[in-house]
Amino acid sequence: MGPDANKRPTAEEVLEKLLEGNNRFVEGNLLHPNHCQESRQLVMHQQEPVATILTCADSRVPPVDIFDQGIGDLFIVRVAGNIIGDHTLGSIEYAVAYLHTPLIIVMGHSSCGAITAVAKGASLGGHMATLAPPIQTAIKNIKDAEGDLIENASKEVACHIARNIETSEPIIADFVEEGKVKVIAAYYDLQSGIVSILPK
Ligand SMILES: [Zn+2]
Repeated sequence: MGPDANKRPTAEEVLEKLLEGNNRFVEGNLLHPNHCQESRQLVMHQQEPVATILTCADSRVPPVDIFDQGIGDLFIVRVAGNIIGDHTLGSIEYAVAYLHTPLIIVMGHSSCGAITAVAKGASLGGHMATLAPPIQTAIKNIKDAEGDLIENASKEVACHIARNIETSEPIIADFVEEGKVKVIAAYYDLQSGIVSILPK
């Protein structure tokens, strides 16, 4: 059983809450909410995460810390390069259709190894090769853009994937159209700890 679809916060309320948490993270004033034994018991039978986060598997990008949230707050899907494939998209669909998370954030980050490798044309062996095509597709139009290639590429991948999720059929596109979920792109800077919202 999932949460009541009619009793969910709005995407705007959730984003404000997460950015407040990020601000605490940046300033070193973490509250570490919902980390205690009681929090664990509260969500033992049912989870009601307020947001779905698709981000990189990179060890330096921990969403629960970055947004200063706790157990049961965030439904997190992580894969190198924050791209989508059948499994990641299926996981996001589950969060939207059954857990009614009103907000999806696709969050890229600075110094992303997967995106750096693909942007610089490195050849990836084994199953790593499957990471390259979605990144290549996303960044094909920004190769000559001004500024830092890797930063531009990471931001472009987040935006491109966010647009793909927003229009993903079946399921997510319908929820977006009905105003039940919003999809946004964001960028996490490893040095400052700041999460910026990107224009899609
Ligand atoms: Zn990365």
